Amino acid sequence: MQPVLTVGSVAFDSIKTPAGEVSRVVGGAATYFSLAASLFTPVRLVAVVGDDFGPGHLRIFDGRPIDLSGLQRVAGETFRWRGEYHHDLNQRDTIYTELNVFDAFRPRIPAAFRDSPIVFLANIHPALQLEVLDQVASPRLVALDTMNYWIEGTPDALRRVLARVHVLIINDEEARQLSGERNLVAAARAIRALGPRRVVIKRGEHGVLMTSGERFFAAPAMPLEVVCDPTGAGDTFAGGFIGYLASAPQMTDAVLAQAVVAGSTMASFAVQEFGVDRLLRLDKAAVAARFGEFRQLTQFEPL
Ligand code: AMP
Repeated sequence: MQPVLTVGSVAFDSIKTPAGEVSRVVGGAATYFSLAASLFTPVRLVAVVGDDFGPGHLRIFDGRPIDLSGLQRVAGETFRWRGEYHHDLNQRDTIYTELNVFDAFRPRIPAAFRDSPIVFLANIHPALQLEVLDQVASPRLVALDTMNYWIEGTPDALRRVLARVHVLIINDEEARQLSGERNLVAAARAIRALGPRRVVIKRGEHGVLMTSGERFFAAPAMPLEVVCDPTGAGDTFAGGFIGYLASAPQMTDAVLAQAVVAGSTMASFAVQEFGVDRLLRLDKAAVAARFGEFRQLTQFEPL
């Protein structure tokens, strides 16, 4: 097991879906990632929160191998985000994004984290992602998430960081936007030319497509009758994917395929309840059982 360093948002989220509404619950990309990855491997979390983020909020990280010594607490308000989903849960409106203390955030990687062998750069400004990479020694695996906002707004910084990344984890629309290609196979090829050896494309309820070299691996999403809240599904996927890779002795094609299913398994739990609620009650036995259901879902005999 190797520790994973992650840098990203810890937030107060307000979420409305056809299943209901919650307000000011703890969320953020780094939160979902850490809760998922910590089921497989120790996590080192670097982020910032405001002085409105109290000991009660921190409790969600209790009892898990998540090192919070890189979590800065500064005067001001914590990052806030509100999303509202349509009847079609693939459609979401961002009602507001209040950066607050995140606006002046400069990632400071504690000395004890600088030897991290595995780094997950959650969706933040690519210039900050570069600052993180400048502070770690020589990671074996660097994975990155990004979004349309940075693809459009800061393409040069994004290209600089992509050149230093091994695995890019993004959704299908972002892959198209970044590459200028409609076809996802062509998009993955174009993205590989920018640096990442492997591209993992999240396709929501349609599952995940991974390319490494000329090889592809695809996994469906678990067919679920109740999807309560898709928030953080992508970050939870990344946590399961990277956490599983970190727990494995080698990164073979077979292990990468298992990691895609581990990520899909974690995401399938996350969407079943609001915010991080389901992740907080999750144990290894439930994960193993659903991993088995994924195996059944995709198994068939040769012709
Ligand atoms: P996802 O559903 O994967 O888009 O992730 C949603 C999570 O990302 C929520 O918990 C938000 O707090 C967080 N988030 C939303 N917008 C941003 C942003 N611009 N930067 C960092 N985190 C964000």
